[in-house]
Amino acid sequence: MSDADHLFPVTDAALAATRTTAAQYAANYARSLSDSDGFWRDQVGRLDWMTPPTKMGNWSWDPVDIKWFEDGVLNVSVNCLDRHLPHHADTIAIVWEGDDPKAPVRRISYGELHAETCRMANALIGLGVQKGDRVTLYMPMIPEAAMAMLACARIGAVHSVVFGGFSPEAIAGRIQDADSKFVITADYGNRAGKPLQLKGAVDKALEQCPDVEAVLVVRHTGAEVNMHPERDHWWHELRAQVPATCTPEPMAAEDPLFILYTSGSTGKPKGVLHTTAGYLLWTNMTFETVFDYRQGELFWCTADVGWVTGHSYIVYGPLSNAATVLMFEGVPNYPDVDRFWATIAKHKVNIFYTAPTALRALMRDGPEPVDRHDLSSLRLLGTVGEPINPEAWLWYHRHVGKSKLPIVDTWWQTETGGAMMTPLPGAHALKPGAAAMPFYGIVPALVDAEGKFIAGPEGQNPGPNEGNLVLTRSWPGQARTVYGDHERFTQTYFTTYRGLYFTGDGARRDADGYWWITGRVDDVINVSGHRMGTAEVESALVAHPDVAEAAVVGYPHDIKGQGIYAYVTLNSGVEASDKLLTELRYSVREHIGPIATPDHLHLTPALPKTRSGKIMRRILRKIAENDFAALGDTSTLADPSVVQALIDGRLNR
Ligand code: ATP
Ligand code: MG
Repeated sequence: MSDADHLFPVTDAALAATRTTAAQYAANYARSLSDSDGFWRDQVGRLDWMTPPTKMGNWSWDPVDIKWFEDGVLNVSVNCLDRHLPHHADTIAIVWEGDDPKAPVRRISYGELHAETCRMANALIGLGVQKGDRVTLYMPMIPEAAMAMLACARIGAVHSVVFGGFSPEAIAGRIQDADSKFVITADYGNRAGKPLQLKGAVDKALEQCPDVEAVLVVRHTGAEVNMHPERDHWWHELRAQVPATCTPEPMAAEDPLFILYTSGSTGKPKGVLHTTAGYLLWTNMTFETVFDYRQGELFWCTADVGWVTGHSYIVYGPLSNAATVLMFEGVPNYPDVDRFWATIAKHKVNIFYTAPTALRALMRDGPEPVDRHDLSSLRLLGTVGEPINPEAWLWYHRHVGKSKLPIVDTWWQTETGGAMMTPLPGAHALKPGAAAMPFYGIVPALVDAEGKFIAGPEGQNPGPNEGNLVLTRSWPGQARTVYGDHERFTQTYFTTYRGLYFTGDGARRDADGYWWITGRVDDVINVSGHRMGTAEVESALVAHPDVAEAAVVGYPHDIKGQGIYAYVTLNSGVEASDKLLTELRYSVREHIGPIATPDHLHLTPALPKTRSGKIMRRILRKIAENDFAALGDTSTLADPSVVQALIDGRLNR
């Protein structure tokens, strides 16, 4: 039996803490499909409405026109702030932990967050921001980032958060694409003990954006920055001049809430647009249900607010539930590789949600840094962002979860707004590496290359099956368009398989009906007619105790059609040897079969990753194909120098 077949039953503790047992999940899921309107009508009360909706889903995917709760009126900031004031004015909304572990912790109550958000909203109005205007945020991980998002929502402005590590070019491109005339930023951020220039990067970007009228600058580190006299304004100065209350703008359910650019793993980032009511309801409901959140618990999502995970599970999902979140400015390995674990112990975090890329990086140093800390406050673990290799899952479960805690492996996308497939901790036995089961209202299905259903259309045909993952029905949190380019939205998601939403991911459904994401469809390798997902081959390599991370791509092969080229990063301190390379090949043969044996094993100290930590296989594919003149858009790479090193070291000349 391979590791992937391990089954971890629902624990007594998870069952005791849950609001969703297996029977409840089954009943809710069935009703969400058989009586969609009734199901959602029961959920509408999760939100405070100025006018409650009478219509539920009203959508078409051919042509593409998606609406939910369309006649409802509400304001997102009211739902995240005002409605909590009667009972939770003193409840802490945000606990802030700085990059420097000695930086004073900030604790911001719902009362304070409300007042600060209103002040910022008033400041934005003073700068000329109107309902419907796009406001670009380029912020460090500080509470003011959440305030800025909520302030936009309060006055009906549409925020576009750009990750605070992107280059001036990337900022300028996103400002231009969103046609945004306002920017909110900070002087500097801190990252691994070094200052991160933010205002300076904005200044550079704005050389290419003459239409930007005003920049609001938060003072965070206090380091000197240039202030453009007519254009730039200090937040602390405007703050002192405005009242701490601000009338919320009534927003139609389908008014835009934000634009967010995807990670760019597969190409030019898309400006995904989410609207007001459906997105908020989806994040509110998935946050509470997937994490079984209980009032008073401390929830830590390690993502940056610049990614959708930060939008949905640091800001909108938790705050609309009156939850307490930890917001962390720093990185997992500063000042030491135990920073995550030290922080969990310091703040007594109850729920911890992170990415496989972070876990694989931390695994390189073994369990000792984890064991140094008291993690007994933890109740639940989660992961998101990439398929998690069973090896990394087991490590997370054993060392961080002390072999007791459930792990929710949540599959979703910027375009889906919130979690789509995941185990629920009190309902589903866990399988390492499986995203398990669809959330309410979600109907995943598998299609072949021609779009013929393999296991569907409503997913009734039991597994095992494998194919391209599509969704057959809309859900409230679905993105409505690509900003300014509805045709691209239609083309990207709804034309590959007409009338279905194509995720771009491949998946497998096993005999128990569990869903496994096998990687991006573009990454599927076809060796002598055998199709295999890159995730499987990578997991077989990572299963070797000396391997930290692996990325596998196909390249043209005269005989087999495609050969397998594997990039492998070894654990700290491990020396490469012929014996090790043989063992790695053997590991793949054993886990998958001889057909998957890599033709090339390229050992490398680092892999090209997006700023959100995802491996950019598109670039690795080009290098393996010897086609490094055409690497495509590399603007979202975290460290471009990795690419040249890989080109120099390529094995397939
Ligand atoms: P782009 O769309 O620009 O190429 P991206 O797809 O990386 O970028 P995101 O929306 O941040 O942008 O990521 C969504 C993708 O991440 C999913 O389509 C899937 O490939 C992967 N993913 C996210 N969570 C999981 C998970 N739990 N298991 C497997 N894959 C996941
Ligand atoms: Mg994507």
